[in-house]
Amino acid sequence: MTKLHGSTIMGIFLISILFLSGSLHCFANFTVDIAEFEAELSKRFSDSNRVSLVKWFPLEYWEVNLRNNPSITPSQIDSILQVLNPYTIIAVLDGKIGPFGGINFSTKEELQATIKIYSSGTYRSPYLLEELSPDLRSLVATLGAYFADVIGTAGENLHLFIFPAVDTTGTRLVNPSKPGSFSVFLDEEEFRWRLPLGSLSPAKYCSTCGEKLSGSYLYCPYDSTKLIQD
Ligand SMILES: [Zn+2]
Repeated sequence: MTKLHGSTIMGIFLISILFLSGSLHCFANFTVDIAEFEAELSKRFSDSNRVSLVKWFPLEYWEVNLRNNPSITPSQIDSILQVLNPYTIIAVLDGKIGPFGGINFSTKEELQATIKIYSSGTYRSPYLLEELSPDLRSLVATLGAYFADVIGTAGENLHLFIFPAVDTTGTRLVNPSKPGSFSVFLDEEEFRWRLPLGSLSPAKYCSTCGEKLSGSYLYCPYDSTKLIQD
């Protein structure tokens, strides 16, 4: 296994993130629409009192992202994915709206104390920064700086949280390509992903009406035909 220096990982990430937009990536024998994938990973909530944005970065995000960048070699990609495999990263922007419309953003510490992920009947809290490897800490710092740079003030209020992605036996807790669900809780507010993600599933075709449908659908929404994966 190649040991990557923290700054190498930081550099590769920064470059690959900049390249990730509106392209297609061939993934597991079918094509992932990266714009659709990006959109599926983000969830927002807003009412008159609160505005929240949650983005999930599963391992597939990094894989699609990195494999889409021709300047990174397959062995470098494998090394990075190995570093990231045990973790799920969640980015959060959360603000309470005051009586006069001003937004009071939640601090990293406030969110760290309340944010949880939920899958297969178990809630999990984020790791503390001290619990992470230096490589992971570099990544979090790089991503934080990147968001602050491209999104401006909102980016400064976007905080990253690192959660476990595997159990004690190394088995993935959530696989976004397989049926199930995954949630992020901010206080009582639930941000829920029904899985598999449509963008990570090959499209299905209805045998009755011929319609091309999301790979996450089980039945045709027009005529209720049961859909079979090709
Ligand atoms: Zn149909």
